Amino acid sequence: MEINKIQHSKLDKVDPNNSAFGVNISDHMLICVFKDGKWGEPVIMPYGGMNYSPALMAIHYGQAIFEGMKAYKDSNDNVFLFRPEKNFERFNKSAERLAMPKITKEIFLDGLLSLIDLDRNWVPTKEGNSLYIRPTMFASEEMFSARISNEYTFAIMTSPANSYYDKPLKIKIEDYYTRAVDGGVGFTKCAGNYGASFYPTKLANEAGYDQVIWTDSKEHLYFEESGTMNVMVRIGDVLYTPPTSNTILSGITRDSLVTIAKHNKIEVKEERISVDDIFNAYKSGNLKEIFGCGTAVVINRYSHVAYRDFIMELPELDEKNSFAIFLKKQLVDLQTNKSEDPFGWRYKVEKKL
Ligand SMILES: *Cc1c(COP(=O)(O)O)cnc(C)c1O
Repeated sequence: MEINKIQHSKLDKVDPNNSAFGVNISDHMLICVFKDGKWGEPVIMPYGGMNYSPALMAIHYGQAIFEGMKAYKDSNDNVFLFRPEKNFERFNKSAERLAMPKITKEIFLDGLLSLIDLDRNWVPTKEGNSLYIRPTMFASEEMFSARISNEYTFAIMTSPANSYYDKPLKIKIEDYYTRAVDGGVGFTKCAGNYGASFYPTKLANEAGYDQVIWTDSKEHLYFEESGTMNVMVRIGDVLYTPPTSNTILSGITRDSLVTIAKHNKIEVKEERISVDDIFNAYKSGNLKEIFGCGTAVVINRYSHVAYRDFIMELPELDEKNSFAIFLKKQLVDLQTNKSEDPFGWRYKVEKKL
């Protein structure tokens, strides 16, 4: 793989242990171009602008997908990825649905390992911090025909991220707008899913809520996701999460938490959750926790859940009795090499460069 190193690292100006999410992008990026029906050679180069015109097809017709993953450092400066093959597989599922070419494992995974190895000094050491990794692919032909693009650019960028302060949030159950429909693209990480969710989220913010819980598009009665995360509900001592589907993205955090919960003898039910179920549990005093889960935040707990004008206040739990806090600690300890890895999920980034 061709590697063009940066002249002067930006690490003399950026503190990876004190960087807001997604703001400081690391020294290098990986670029690979698809043209004439095949992928070219991947190149690692200094992060920076690229030369495209506003006729870029991704901008007009939305063939743009991405992934979100993280690298973690343990106390001995070893660097680990977490289940990266899962991101690779999901990336290609998104690519297929958007009629984009699949990327090879060599370009995605070997490219990722070389990039993280080269920029390993960007992986934060402070507890809870990590290096956020953003693989992306977009249509990079420049013309106006509304058709499948013939050219694509695959890129991987990274950015040090502080741990989110997980203050419990106020959330609104969305009963009008829709994130995903049957037969649509809800299960993919395509750019348009995010663009379309910003307006309803803005309305929720203006009404005093931090985030929305998306419900099914037909009746708005069943929980789907919360914001850009999967959603979990604890009723009594049972943890519920809706089964993944073509409208519910198959989160790697979701899958990992379900596995860890079962491993710790917590009863998990992957079942549809209705607004009625939530009301009934609330009335009987059994609605204990609702939280979102995803790579960026790990777990976001909710303190208030609103449906129309009715606001449900959830109990304040702590590390002794909250499933969310327990599961988050189990997952982060595993990711950062503080605990055993019975599932074989950690993936060490060897020092080669
Ligand atoms: C990325 C994403 C998730 C979380 O997936 P993870 O693999 O856990 O990061 C959940 N829902 C949506 C809509 C997403 O885009």
